[in-house]
Amino acid sequence: MAQDTQIEKVLILGAGPAGLTAAVYTGRANLDPLVITGTELGGQVALTNEVENYPGFPEGVTGAELVERFQKHAERFGARFEYDSVTGVDFTQGPPYTVKTASRTYRAWAVIIAMGASARRLGVPGEEEFIGRGVSYCATCDGFFFTGKDVVVVGGGDSALEEGIFLTKFASRVRIIHRRDQLRAGPILQERAKRNEKISFIWDTVVEEVIGDGAVQGVKVRNVKTGEVGTLKTDGVFIFIGHDPNTALFKGQLEMDERGYLITDDLMHTSVTGVFAAGEIQDPVFRQVATSVGQGCAAAMSCTRWLEEMEEKIKQAEAAG
Ligand code: NAP
Repeated sequence: MAQDTQIEKVLILGAGPAGLTAAVYTGRANLDPLVITGTELGGQVALTNEVENYPGFPEGVTGAELVERFQKHAERFGARFEYDSVTGVDFTQGPPYTVKTASRTYRAWAVIIAMGASARRLGVPGEEEFIGRGVSYCATCDGFFFTGKDVVVVGGGDSALEEGIFLTKFASRVRIIHRRDQLRAGPILQERAKRNEKISFIWDTVVEEVIGDGAVQGVKVRNVKTGEVGTLKTDGVFIFIGHDPNTALFKGQLEMDERGYLITDDLMHTSVTGVFAAGEIQDPVFRQVATSVGQGCAAAMSCTRWLEEMEEKIKQAEAAG
């Protein structure tokens, strides 16, 4: 595996709104940031059909366009992009710290982690088996394949309703299956979903199995109040039941809360000096593009200050080769 002889000033892990904003700020501070993008440039927002609540875009903007603009902005200030995924880190020794991808080993004086969160799985039989064959976690990516077909959506939060509404552009019917009789989603989306003639709700119900033969044909469900079980025929199962932070790589190296979110202080420092975190990997509460952008900015500013404090040590190390 190739090893970079050069020690980067700052490595940014992840290229969603938090990582790309950190790249804009560290680039503008002449830190020559290197962004390791992971498999999904732009993160979750890149897969969002329409972003309606990011300031400056009163008419709304597609997630893909917003990400493209973020990236162009970062490139304008010299950010470099490596389209690779992080496979391991060593924060137990350093700085400089070690970050590995499949093809290289990097070293960096500072690291900003912005690797976001991933769609949570239901964990029922048939779910994994039918991913890509009727089970999906992204309406923007897969909605088109369900033109004229029947789909169910699992979940009762903003994502379930927003994506369910989007699916009505394609599907003939969208049934939203929620485990309670009250939605978690905000009032505007609730009202929109309830007004939509293609959408209906199945309350107090959980999906216990996805069934099919080569492709999804239905779901086995159970009413949690009555205990009644049954089968719903459907062509697609869209699951939007929240997210889990992508922190598996950092177990044992960085402090996390009981749900696996990285713990940061007010200045976005993690438990290791010189390692910062921003966006959904450390934020279980807000999880908006606007808050991730703010956290990416804050992490970059803290990182810049920290590197200024380290300047003498870095110069000495560079002089020693
Ligand atoms: P969420 O708010 O955590 O909602 C998850 C939903 O899935 C809840 O209704 C939950 O039920 C249900 N659920 C969780 N685990 C389940 C399981 N094992 N089986 C069945 N149902 C399960 O997640 P989200 O909708 O992805 O939203 C995440 C954050 O992004 C939120 O802060 C949200 O406001 C934000 N967001 C905002 C927008 C927007 O502003 N337009 C759009 C999308 C997301 P319970 O309600 O019973 O817990």
